[in-house]
Amino acid sequence: MPENSENSLLSSVDKIFDDSSSLCLLGDGMKERIKACNLTLTIRFGVRLRGKVFSFTGWRSVHSEHQHPAKGGIRYAPNVDQEEVEGLAALMTYKCALMGIPFSGSKGALQINRNEWEPHELERITRRFTQELAKRNLIGPSQNVPAPDMGTSEVEMAWIADEYQRLNRLDINASACVTGKPLSHGGIEGRIEATGRGTQYAIQEFFRSWPDREKIGLDGDLRGKRVIIQGLGNVGYHAAKFLSQEDGCIIQGVIEHDGGVFRAEGLNIEKLRQHMNTHGGVCGFLDAESFEDGSKMLEMPCDILIPAARENVITSKNAANIQARLVVEAANGPISYSGDQILREKGVTVMPDIYVNSGGVTVSYFEWIKNLGHMRLGLLDHQRQETQNRRIAEMLESMTGVKIPKDQWDAFVRGSDEIDLVRSGLDEMMRQAFQRMVEVYQTREGVEDLRTAAYVLAIESVANSYKASGI
Ligand code: GLU
Repeated sequence: MPENSENSLLSSVDKIFDDSSSLCLLGDGMKERIKACNLTLTIRFGVRLRGKVFSFTGWRSVHSEHQHPAKGGIRYAPNVDQEEVEGLAALMTYKCALMGIPFSGSKGALQINRNEWEPHELERITRRFTQELAKRNLIGPSQNVPAPDMGTSEVEMAWIADEYQRLNRLDINASACVTGKPLSHGGIEGRIEATGRGTQYAIQEFFRSWPDREKIGLDGDLRGKRVIIQGLGNVGYHAAKFLSQEDGCIIQGVIEHDGGVFRAEGLNIEKLRQHMNTHGGVCGFLDAESFEDGSKMLEMPCDILIPAARENVITSKNAANIQARLVVEAANGPISYSGDQILREKGVTVMPDIYVNSGGVTVSYFEWIKNLGHMRLGLLDHQRQETQNRRIAEMLESMTGVKIPKDQWDAFVRGSDEIDLVRSGLDEMMRQAFQRMVEVYQTREGVEDLRTAAYVLAIESVANSYKASGI
């Protein structure tokens, strides 16, 4: 089978679904109902720029509709296609279901090389794309809520929010039509760092409570563990920064599009990021050894390997050479189905994407709640702030069903910082989801790894929701 079709993201996700759903007790037809992508719209539109009309192609997929709204990012990339968007939308369904976030899964993309356009041109293209989505009811606080993804950031989200609000002037909830907005536009503290922060919390929880950790040779705590990260974008940068600065991990290697850099004593992540911003890549970073072929660095010995960039970086071609004990999927779909099987046979533990990178959508959920609640945080006097914080904490608890521990509760009720609230809420949700996975792993026949445990939980949650709504 050609490597590409063997490893398309959608086929990998579908195969994992087939394996995991065979362990779930589901009624007739339910598997097909959950697995299939409900809708994908291809949108072709023109924008007049530089004196002529340029055509663009974009997609929005809605994978499931067991809850409303459907949720998922919008990716800007030159090579993205419909199948990739559908695979990513399916991952959003399972991610939200696993985390207990009441959203269905969706994803969007625009086929564009953003380096070819000026910011004001990107703004016009994004606004036009938003109009096209709005025309077809594929954006709205109660229907479908986009967010940043690869190639987009809070800048595009602000344009999307503004365009949607312009089109829906009478909708008091219009700002909740998109998440990942700048703070000035109704965003929430901690959304930019959220996926990297969630990755850190996921690894912390693994070190606190994975029952088989010592069996795979990962003793002790996180301090001093050797880490290699692929991708120093938003997710990889924040994960690397928090793991090195707060947990004492040694980030020995960083792989980027131009190659990789390695330093046995650990890389200074802030300086490396500055180097990348000025030089457009990591190679040539002072004090570190540069490798032109970064992909070879995935195969270096380390404790934790974190692919935090794109799909299909570990496949049947290189999985047998991976030397890490733990692979943490901070990106969506970085390990293909066949790559995953090889890692399992080798005894490498994998923390799956639908758990590890759920920090982004979890904090998006907090932002959406904040927008719908029309709350202003951090702008009140101290006493009012405390009352306000207590109310938010109570609301988060009741909406997520997650009990905030006493010390964290006191800290954020006392403090006035939105960031504390966001971080403790995210931490708690990551811990609880991991505990649910451990329980399934320990008690369910046939569940032998974390990915299967995560999918079993997600699939059963979606099935329950469809059942409850009478389908
Ligand atoms: N794009 C992110 C993801 O893949 C975030 C999605 C969201 O916040 O809706 O999970």
